[in-house]
Amino acid sequence: MSNTKNTKTPAATNSEWVRRGQSKIHGGGLYANQDILAGTRVLEYVGERITKAESERREAKRLAVRADGEDGCVYVFELNARRDIDGDVKWNTARLINHSCDGNCEPQSIRGRIWIVASRDIEKGEELGYDYGFDLKDWRKHPCLCGSPKCVGYIVKKSQRWRVRKALAAES
Ligand SMILES: [Zn+2]
Repeated sequence: MSNTKNTKTPAATNSEWVRRGQSKIHGGGLYANQDILAGTRVLEYVGERITKAESERREAKRLAVRADGEDGCVYVFELNARRDIDGDVKWNTARLINHSCDGNCEPQSIRGRIWIVASRDIEKGEELGYDYGFDLKDWRKHPCLCGSPKCVGYIVKKSQRWRVRKALAAES
């Protein structure tokens, strides 16, 4: 991705661990193609390497869209102190992974690359999911359909979910 003038689109990323499928949660999703042990690097999260300034510009733009209740996906991950990676590119298969309130994966930064890593043992056929880490802001506009018993009903990062539960309890 260092040569941004290269117009050839890279092939979509893939790995022996995943297959694409129709998600019960939202649109397309990724599923375990075989049993996966906790700690396995399931798939690299690839994209465009961008500066922090460019990253902030793009995120501000996306947040404005998200506030309107549109596609609420998060694509930008921190690579290091100077660079981020924007995974909103067609060849980044990992972008298909949905948010889950009880995910089986987590994105990890490992030596200048982002990997989707199994956070627990995963059985063949399970849909992959991780915590999108959304802030509390505009939580009502992002209902969660993950279906896990731990689902709080909205896409909000784990550390903030108690606030959603409290707000919902106060209404009932
Ligand atoms: Zn959920």
